[in-house]
Amino acid sequence: MDKQRILITGGAGFLGSHLCDRFIKEGFEVIAMDNLITGDLRNIEHLFKLKAFEFYNHDVSKFVHVPGALHYILHFASPASPIDYLKIPIQTLKVGSLGIHNLLGLARAKKSRIMIASTSEVYGDPTVHPQPEEYYGNVNSVGPRGVYDEAKRFQEAMTMAYHTYHNLETRIIRIFNTYGPRMRLNDGRVLPAFIGQALRGEDLTIFGDGSQTRSFCYVDDLVEGIYRLLLSDYVLPMNIGNPSEITIKEFAEEIIKLTGTTQKIIYQPLPKDDPKQRQPDITKARKILNWEPKVSRAEGLKITYEYFKSLPKEVLYHRDHKNFDGFIR
Ligand code: UDP
Repeated sequence: MDKQRILITGGAGFLGSHLCDRFIKEGFEVIAMDNLITGDLRNIEHLFKLKAFEFYNHDVSKFVHVPGALHYILHFASPASPIDYLKIPIQTLKVGSLGIHNLLGLARAKKSRIMIASTSEVYGDPTVHPQPEEYYGNVNSVGPRGVYDEAKRFQEAMTMAYHTYHNLETRIIRIFNTYGPRMRLNDGRVLPAFIGQALRGEDLTIFGDGSQTRSFCYVDDLVEGIYRLLLSDYVLPMNIGNPSEITIKEFAEEIIKLTGTTQKIIYQPLPKDDPKQRQPDITKARKILNWEPKVSRAEGLKITYEYFKSLPKEVLYHRDHKNFDGFIR
């Protein structure tokens, strides 16, 4: 049998690059596509020498063409941190709407199975806790997170419509907070923010009083969940995340302990519409995929810290989002 070919959009990003690694390891031919707005070629540099790997520098909001057979498509291209959506709101909306339309069209033409990366953000600032897939969410469409949340909600609707009307094989994963090596140090998300601050000898910035909660999943666990969902026959949205929930204040204390920093915690205003609590209900993933996370936060954070420590100094001190601070609060 010919090798299975898979297109991974956002292939140079944090999750996309780990997916490229996984599918190469599983014996697939991998095509990574990225416009490198938030992705970084350093994440996939090690794959360029492989025959089974190709890279297309392309924006999926424009017509997408891939020659040859294509068995699977993973749509993982999108800015994915609150600071990124603030910086590039239109691109965020376009990749989730025009981008998914192009890729669904490609999937139809190639008869590929397509999975889209959705998000816990579709639940907004949730009033149901933990969040099961049936919860419809509490989203402010015109708030700062609206461009991401609504693009992802549209993307789910579009994907289901192609499934229903065109019989396309589709999968929808709702990803909760995920961390690990290759996160962008300066993308504004809490884990790179805290570790970066500790490494630079700065105080750790907690937004609000730190009582808001998140549940952090190590990237290898997420990738395993994605792999199993893609190969399953489940078409409705499925949560994949780690239910181990923690307040941001406790999280800051864990990072202080891990890094041994002598800096203190400082408090800054809470950004608008920042969800107060978040924890995935993973009953479905457990039952249908026989999946649950295996990597504890202590283990995962240690690996991630080692990665950030190994980065060159200029990366540690490079802050392209400095000027956007004022917009989010
Ligand atoms: N956060 C914080 N300090 C930072 C960056 C983020 O306290 O320097 C908070 C943020 O307000 C949110 C939580 O950490 O409550 C997680 O933020 P992140 O941007 O990582 O992801 P999301 O809000 O999308 O879950």
